[in-house]
Amino acid sequence: MIDKPVYFELKELVCPHVYYRFGEVAWQFLHEKQLILMDWVRNSLNRPVFVNNWDQYENSDYIKEIKRLASARLPIISTELPEAPKGLFDERGLRCNLCSLNLAKTYRGIIYCSPHFTGQADDYDVEGMTAEEVRQWIIANKYKLPYPVRLEKGVSWVHMDCRDAGEKVVLFNP
Ligand SMILES: [Zn+2]
Ligand SMILES: [Zn+2]
Repeated sequence: MIDKPVYFELKELVCPHVYYRFGEVAWQFLHEKQLILMDWVRNSLNRPVFVNNWDQYENSDYIKEIKRLASARLPIISTELPEAPKGLFDERGLRCNLCSLNLAKTYRGIIYCSPHFTGQADDYDVEGMTAEEVRQWIIANKYKLPYPVRLEKGVSWVHMDCRDAGEKVVLFNP
């Protein structure tokens, strides 16, 4: 078993499809380095860090229907689901093959091997800081980082993943 993070719950880090299909087993889909990195950011900044928030919408028809189908291991057809509530985030951590960003690429014949698909990435916001401030803080503290990270440039959220690109911090464009 992997060590669970101190500051994050499973629902914050995986999509509802995976959560309701696999429950606690889904911890094993997440990369241990990434979990350690997320805890390190949260602990070092000592500010709340927000990834997914879909657990706050568990009473919505959208989440209730995903829960019903995934728990019963029935097919989940995205076009037949109720509309997702505005403000809901459910693809900021692990994305499965049913998550809309992956589905869209699959339909268009595009291969998708994002670190979000392999449990190695999270998109997040830090309370009281802009995404650019967080990126600059990570760069300034790169020698303390427990593992190398990749950061996506110029986006309004922090994308951080633990794929080792050969340097402590690598900035990339998608
Ligand atoms: Zn999913
Ligand atoms: Zn991302």
